[in-house]
Amino acid sequence: MQFIDLQKQYQSLKQEIDEAILKVLNSCDFIMGQEVQELEDSLAEYVSRKYCVTCANGTDAISLALMAYNIRPGDAVFLPTFTFYATAEAVSLCGATPIFVDIDEETFNISTTSLQEAIRKVLDDKKLTPKAIISVDLFGLPAEFDSINQIGEKYNLLIIEDAAQGFGGAIRGKKACSFGNISTTSFFPAKPLGCYGDGGAVFTDEKSVKDTLESLRVHGKGANKYENVRIGRNSRLDTLQAAILQVKLKAFKEYELLQRQKIAAIYDELLNNVLKTPQIPPHYTSSFAQYSVLLKSEIQRDELQKKLKAHGIPSMVYYLKSMHQQSVYNNNISVEWKFPVAEQVSQKILSLPIHPYIETGHVEKICEIIIEELKR
Ligand SMILES: *Cc1c(COP(=O)(O)O)cnc(C)c1O
Repeated sequence: MQFIDLQKQYQSLKQEIDEAILKVLNSCDFIMGQEVQELEDSLAEYVSRKYCVTCANGTDAISLALMAYNIRPGDAVFLPTFTFYATAEAVSLCGATPIFVDIDEETFNISTTSLQEAIRKVLDDKKLTPKAIISVDLFGLPAEFDSINQIGEKYNLLIIEDAAQGFGGAIRGKKACSFGNISTTSFFPAKPLGCYGDGGAVFTDEKSVKDTLESLRVHGKGANKYENVRIGRNSRLDTLQAAILQVKLKAFKEYELLQRQKIAAIYDELLNNVLKTPQIPPHYTSSFAQYSVLLKSEIQRDELQKKLKAHGIPSMVYYLKSMHQQSVYNNNISVEWKFPVAEQVSQKILSLPIHPYIETGHVEKICEIIIEELKR
């Protein structure tokens, strides 16, 4: 059994994907071919943002968003400590300081209470200027944007949505990648919408920000690539990946997202009596990038993972270490603070196989093994 079965997905979409790839090969328009613009239009329409600017990966997408708003040394950027490293790394790359914030114990997303505490501490400290919040849609569930937007307004902070895992999620029908001032996503193969290599995108409703992003991703170009008006980078999405993503986006919209949610519902029903299943608040929709459950203790989690492995069932721990526990941030000002929820969750969490092509029989088998193990 695969944790995420890309092979099955490819077999199911093979004909269309092969055709899309061949078309690009025949055109030899490998950089910024027409598929890139077409994909950007489809993505912007799907998430209801005015503009989409694709780029080389989800980490660059965050970097480009920070660069577009001129985030720089001396600036503080708040983000959940319980996330993939790229969220923090992008902040450090632009010279700003990531400020880590504890998470909510139900959703695993940034805690708005801890967020406000962190902002006040940085303001009191007077060494850094609070500039932005990066809220992560962890495991596919959008962060609590109603409150986050209010906090952003109160303290005049830019809101960046890191929807690398969130693509397809929603709040009251409003889609992920449309929250906050600017949103980013990743098309890494294992994400809800993945390509066949690296890829990413930034979403904005502001024409001037879109123009800046388009300049930034091509060496800070002006009228053309050989006129350079700012320090940018080389971060385009390949035409081949755009062509593949067009096919995959269609499948995602038509059935893949629904299928993920159906699988999650089966897990919910079979497991909710024996462990803590993902808590999706009312009016929220998760794209279930991961189906992550909470066990009672680290020992129970590790035992269960061993048992599943013995049955050939892969499972993952996202994330063993939060950002404040990473050695790279030993000297960060916020690592001295307390992160009780993130530390508890990282000891008890386990992500089970979920993807649109998993057989329901397999899901039932996984649940049987879990129930048997937890009854012992
Ligand atoms: C995957 C991921 C990223 C980075 O995306 P890449 O395309 O791998 O660079 C950023 N943030 C989060 C939360 C992620 O899960």
